[in-house]
Amino acid sequence: RFAFCSDELHQSAFNNLYIRGELKSALASEQMRLVYQPKRCIAAESVVGCEALVRWQHPLEGDISPVQFIPIAERSGMIVEIDYWVLHAAIKQLACWRNNGLQVVPVAINVSLPTFAHDGFVEDLQSLLQRYDVPGEMIELEITERVALRQVRSASAVMHNIIALGIKISMDDFGTGYSSLSYLNQLPISTLKIDRAFVSDIEQDPLKQGITGAIVAMAKAMKLKTVAEGVETEAEFNYLAQLGCDQLQGYYYAKPLSAQAFVEWLAEDTLAV
Ligand code: C2E
Ligand code: MG
Ligand code: MG
Ligand code: MG
Repeated sequence: RFAFCSDELHQSAFNNLYIRGELKSALASEQMRLVYQPKRCIAAESVVGCEALVRWQHPLEGDISPVQFIPIAERSGMIVEIDYWVLHAAIKQLACWRNNGLQVVPVAINVSLPTFAHDGFVEDLQSLLQRYDVPGEMIELEITERVALRQVRSASAVMHNIIALGIKISMDDFGTGYSSLSYLNQLPISTLKIDRAFVSDIEQDPLKQGITGAIVAMAKAMKLKTVAEGVETEAEFNYLAQLGCDQLQGYYYAKPLSAQAFVEWLAEDTLAV
């Protein structure tokens, strides 16, 4: 018999198992924290919100990227616990800022498919908001096309219950999945986040310009806002602004910041306007 297992394959299978195991204790032993990346309204030239992004600092491995562990968590089911932890942490942080009289902006939170489909998700969201006395208007959920497409009809029902709490829903990484006009129109979504794949070096790439231009035009027709993700350069920013994109998020404007750094950044940004 022929058994083949390259070092790399072995490495990655081992890695997956290892990460899966380590994830179990990560939340309990406070290895996770949130960072906040500002979003800017292009027309108003000011901050309009932020996205909460999870960070995992492992005691031995150091920082492990969500790009690495979120997919593993999604496959193992751990993602529901992580997403719930993130929701709780972000809402608690918002309440803390508000109670201290600090300026706040709405916080967007990423929600994976298993969480979105989790029994009682809407009720849990509602009780979190009540517990911390945070209005739903301060929260936005970012979902991917995968979530929306799974079962358009049941997804739509859950989404309507979510927006009834005042929470907005945006479609993350738009353009990378199974973008379909017909279902977009059936879902109560307020914003499309255009994936970084279309944004990077857009000023030099006619194909990206065509696709992004079509997304922005379509969004306008459907009365949806657009956010360009991962804007890194002035040239990208200028091109996207000229296309009529509503908001931008990316290193060009600000990197993801710790809670403390974020409130300081907010205070300075507001002063500058
Ligand atoms: P995403 O939701 O599309 O988040 C945007 C990602 O782009 C973040 O990566 C952010 O740090 C990165 N980014 C922002 N601006 C720039 C830029 O100018 N240039 C470049 N190169 N990158 C930029 P991050 O934090 O590594 O997160 C990766 C993905 O992991 C997220 O993509 C999201 O899908 C997922 N994720 C992160 N936090 C959570 C979470 O709390 N729950 C769930 N379910 N998923 C999460
Ligand atoms: Mg996101
Ligand atoms: Mg995104
Ligand atoms: Mg993305």
